[in-house]
Amino acid sequence: MKRNFSSIERRVPFRTLFKGMAIIALAPYMLLIILVLQGQISALAAIAGAGFITVISLIFIYPYIANLSALTAYVRQLAQDDRSAKAPDLSFLNNVEELSAAVEELHQSWEVRRRDLESSITESRLLIDTLPDIILMLDQHHNIVRTNQTARQHFTPHLYRTNLEEVVSSPPLKEAIAKVGLTGHGVTVPYTMDTQPQRFFMIAIEPFPQRASSNYRYIIAMHDITEQKRTETMLSDFVANASHEIRTPLTTMLGFVETLQTTAKNDKDALNEFLPLMRQQGERMAKLVRDLLSLSKLERNLSNPPTERCSLTSLLANAIEHLSPSAEERQITLNNKLPSRLPRIIGDHEELIQVFENLLSNAIKYSPKQTEITISSSILPANDKEDGESVRINITDEGDGIPEAVIPRLTERFYRVDTARSRKMGGTGLGLSIVKYILDRHNGRLKIKSTEGKGSTFSVILPLPGNKS
Ligand code: ADP
Repeated sequence: MKRNFSSIERRVPFRTLFKGMAIIALAPYMLLIILVLQGQISALAAIAGAGFITVISLIFIYPYIANLSALTAYVRQLAQDDRSAKAPDLSFLNNVEELSAAVEELHQSWEVRRRDLESSITESRLLIDTLPDIILMLDQHHNIVRTNQTARQHFTPHLYRTNLEEVVSSPPLKEAIAKVGLTGHGVTVPYTMDTQPQRFFMIAIEPFPQRASSNYRYIIAMHDITEQKRTETMLSDFVANASHEIRTPLTTMLGFVETLQTTAKNDKDALNEFLPLMRQQGERMAKLVRDLLSLSKLERNLSNPPTERCSLTSLLANAIEHLSPSAEERQITLNNKLPSRLPRIIGDHEELIQVFENLLSNAIKYSPKQTEITISSSILPANDKEDGESVRINITDEGDGIPEAVIPRLTERFYRVDTARSRKMGGTGLGLSIVKYILDRHNGRLKIKSTEGKGSTFSVILPLPGNKS
């Protein structure tokens, strides 16, 4: 308290003190002058009286002036954002002490507002940093003045003060920014980045409200639409392929129907010849529709792994039994080298039968007559990676084999090495895609090894229960 008071004293300006004293003493001074003029007191007594009045006024006015000076200094400190500023003790200004409290309150509310502002700046920085879009803020010369994390990761961490053209060079974008500058309204432009592979973006440009203290003029948000474009292309390719696959047997069937209604009308021989062919085309269409439905069902269930236990022994026996007639028809021997009991796995019985039927059916379709197909198995131990123990089922044929370069493409929808041959054998080009989808859902894998002219081995690898994966 004492220290506080002395600090108040030191701050009292002489001029203020003098003015205060003069205001208080003015009336008594006047009175003394009048008394001297009327001759009621002597000039000496008046001077002595004036000195006395001056001293008394100073003693009286000093603490008040000191308090006011302290208050002024305090407000000035607050205005200069001095966080160490402390409210002075205004003991001589009892009636105006509330003023000090009010100033203190004002200070507190500024503090709260400042803290709010600081946290909202931090929040907005976090927000733009976590946005998946590339965000660039530009000044009026199109220099980058602020970026978000995605932008720094995509281009370089040193974007500050780089001109936009150095990172995104596009005349339509430049024009669009100029337009935004003129109209004050945001626009969106497409942009293709010539990287390998190409990437596609939609760029939104918005103007910033102009403020003298800010050099932010435009905000650029680059939204990556590469995946969306890829999906759109895949979808339209798929629809085109599916329509083409259905149209071919449909055209053939309609051709037969037209012949039977016109040139071969009432021709029994033609009827007998065409009917089995029409049936074949009908079955082909039916298989295609079945495969397409299977694919869409599998796609919907992909994130839904099976939970039931099932017997590999029994489902493999079912698949082999089902395909035996087709193998016999082509004089192909199915050499079953599976052990009498295979481990039980977690899986969907029907879906796994479909996997082995598709693979066996392919092996039969693409093998020459009088050859052999071997079905064998092995247990794979857990490895250092994430994989635990698994079971591997191999289907090995003595067919023509597959060129190594196209092996990765075999599981693409409608991909065939030899389209004409596949169609002739009743293939849809969807069998291996279905196999892949089912195995993905079972956390399994398909491995293909092939030697042209010698044959192929399609291996299904399925995790055994109790695995980490
Ligand atoms: P498809 O209905 O045409 O058989 P898949 O998806 O089952 O369709 O197979 C895709 C392509 O992979 C086939 O068209 C064929 O060219 C090739 N292929 C599949 N299995 C074999 C195999 N065992 N031997 C040789 N080629 C095969």
